[in-house]
Amino acid sequence: MPVKRKNRGRKKGDKGSEGMVQCDNCGALVPRSKITRVTRRVSPVSGDLARELKKQGAYIAESVVTKNFCISCAIHYGILKVRAREERKKPVTI
Ligand SMILES: [Zn+2]
Repeated sequence: MPVKRKNRGRKKGDKGSEGMVQCDNCGALVPRSKITRVTRRVSPVSGDLARELKKQGAYIAESVVTKNFCISCAIHYGILKVRAREERKKPVTI
């Protein structure tokens, strides 16, 4: 059977069924192996104000936020990109 991607867009291999995870943006239920997981440091103070405070020696605590995105949301927010036909055969590296 011809396939669009080598791993069929998932990471589960021949494992069989697996749990569903909810997308943090749109709420869609997606298989765990199909989710795109993004970890970012989020600062409560933004931009110029944070830079100014750091210059004066203040410590601003940053929290780590991990989000699960479905494929369509990941593409919408530019985390994943639509790839050319031959590049689809390679595994995704974020
Ligand atoms: Zn989504």
